[in-house]
Amino acid sequence: MPTIAIVGAGMAGLHLALHLQKEGLDVSLYEERTPDEIRAGRLPSTVGLSAPTRARQRALGVAHWEGPEVATSTFQIRVATEPPLGFVGHLADQALFIDMRVYLPRLFEDFAARGGRVVKASIDAAGVRGLAAEHDLVVVATGRAGLTDLFPRVAERSPHAAPQRRLFAGIVRGLRMPPGPPLKFMFQLSPGHGEIFENQYLTLGGVVPSLLIEAIPGGALEPITRMRYEDDPARFDAALLDAVLTHAPLTAERVDRASFGLAGPRDYLIGAVTPVVRRAYAPLGGGRFALALGDLHITHDPITGQGANMATLAAWLAAERITGQASAGAAFDEAFCADLEERLWDALRPATEWTNAFLLPPPDHALALLAAASRSQPVADAFARNFSYPDRQWAILSSPEATASFIASHA
Ligand SMILES: Cc1cc2nc3c(=O)[nH]c(=O)nc-3n(C[C@H](O)[C@H](O)[C@H](O)COP(=O)(O)OP(=O)(O)OC[C@H]3O[C@@H](n4cnc5c(N)ncnc54)[C@H](O)[C@@H]3O)c2cc1C
Repeated sequence: MPTIAIVGAGMAGLHLALHLQKEGLDVSLYEERTPDEIRAGRLPSTVGLSAPTRARQRALGVAHWEGPEVATSTFQIRVATEPPLGFVGHLADQALFIDMRVYLPRLFEDFAARGGRVVKASIDAAGVRGLAAEHDLVVVATGRAGLTDLFPRVAERSPHAAPQRRLFAGIVRGLRMPPGPPLKFMFQLSPGHGEIFENQYLTLGGVVPSLLIEAIPGGALEPITRMRYEDDPARFDAALLDAVLTHAPLTAERVDRASFGLAGPRDYLIGAVTPVVRRAYAPLGGGRFALALGDLHITHDPITGQGANMATLAAWLAAERITGQASAGAAFDEAFCADLEERLWDALRPATEWTNAFLLPPPDHALALLAAASRSQPVADAFARNFSYPDRQWAILSSPEATASFIASHA
């Protein structure tokens, strides 16, 4: 039986490891942090998992968070045009906003409890080559910053050479939850400045409000993405409050000004993401190859909430191909890797192109779609639902003609 090494126990690595384990393959998982270290770490993201991802985790037997009290099925949008436009879309299937400090350690422990081999190690490029000597295939799923030199950027699939947004994400206090259930996801667009997202987030301490600010460089939201809470907590909280009051009216109406602020010093991140598509495989010598999966292969800005969802889709597709190759007794050679690379690109391309386009000023036809959604509930629901189905969303938004025909068919 072939042996597979997976480096990185994030969304991509864990979904792949659990899937291959379920298929009876010999998998070893190399990760530099223990589950407890992941739990105790800094907020890494504010991930919302879509219905297809939730279906995949059910199939893997790791759907531990299924109750209605954690499900988000309402999606409210407000655009600060003059006059403002807005609508509420209803998801047919519920999304799960969950702290990766809750999610990843649990799946990591599931893999180990089912007999999976786990090695605590920080693997560098030489280490990947070393693993290739002992395994038939090495899958590298180290996220957007790990081992990137192994997999060159594909320029023609990577239109942005620099971050298009500065980011702040954090868990906050002093913000009343919107009435529910169901939980509600809010998307507030402030033209020229960026976007503020609010969701109710399942953390180790229960369901709490969280915010993601996508700041356009040079706009009024950028300063909060460059401040460090540790330097001056009161100043930080004041700046965050100001951003919310000025640019997020749906959130501002539930703020308690006296107590509003960051929940804790580890409960936020600031930074920026350069969207990139890299080659999905690299030769390691001796006829062995490394595959890149998840953010390492394709990094998305979080603006459309696709990164983790696409990482699980990629893991699913890779697991199917790896299992098929193993059961055929065939080698994980260059032809296998090249075929998988194209299969992954076919599947992930709509999410990538849609996300990269969404980072640009909205074209007239995108604004026309939002305006149509504010007048028509079926359009609003379809727009909200299609965040879970980027192929459908991008098919509608990729040209003015497609958008017009979609609006006409729903009006
Ligand atoms: C603010 C923010 C909000 C987001 N919101 C969403 C959202 O709503 N929906 C969505 O789908 N996506 C979202 N994303 C994107 C999502 O977080 C990523 O796409 C996803 O985490 C990628 O998973 P991954 O497995 O590729 O990498 P990661 O989750 O980064 O995992 C990589 C793992 O590899 C380990 N590792 C790294 N280097 C090494 C090494 N050298 N040796 C051993 N181990 C190593 C790390 O410790 C880590 O455990 C968001 C991201 C951010 C920043």
